[in-house]
Amino acid sequence: MTLALAEVAAEAAGCTKCGLARGRTQVVFGMGNPQADLMFVGEGPGAEEDKQGLPFVGRSGKLLDRLMAEEMGLTRDLCYIANVVKCRPPDNRDPKPEEIDACRPWLEQQVKLIAPKVIVTLGNFSSKLLLDTKTGITKLRGQSYPMGNMISTSAVVIPTYHPAAILRGGGLQEAQMRSDLVRARMAMTR
Ligand code: URA
Repeated sequence: MTLALAEVAAEAAGCTKCGLARGRTQVVFGMGNPQADLMFVGEGPGAEEDKQGLPFVGRSGKLLDRLMAEEMGLTRDLCYIANVVKCRPPDNRDPKPEEIDACRPWLEQQVKLIAPKVIVTLGNFSSKLLLDTKTGITKLRGQSYPMGNMISTSAVVIPTYHPAAILRGGGLQEAQMRSDLVRARMAMTR
């Protein structure tokens, strides 16, 4: 991590801005290359992520790694991976609006400091937050967008399914996610 991002991570490690702080083992800030052109944003840590302190290290993460390698020729150390909420919601429930709001400044700082060219949002929560919309992922995916007004950046946002949705059995969704990742790869060469 560059110093600035490491400093933000150190500050976030003690965050108590919402109730999720009480149930976490540790804050899962993010991982990868702080100078990456590509950033993935998921929803929030699950049990394995909470234990290891790293994003997407469970089943969803293994699928993400495989699709990233197959469709983009990339490994996770070449990009940056973060989540909308940095602490595990109990019983893997959805993050609440007030938790998303409380956590949002950490994500804003990550995006500003990393300044990626492309942000792939995984699933509804990150797609709606970054695109500042109520439209669901099924309608949103399939194209690229300028960033919503959440953060001022020139990054292109490419929404796609959360890998957990693919694991629940979406053959069509997997094909669509693969094509979204190809779109992201092409957008990186802009
Ligand atoms: N799901 C997410 O959205 N993020 C993780 O880090 C792991 C699973």
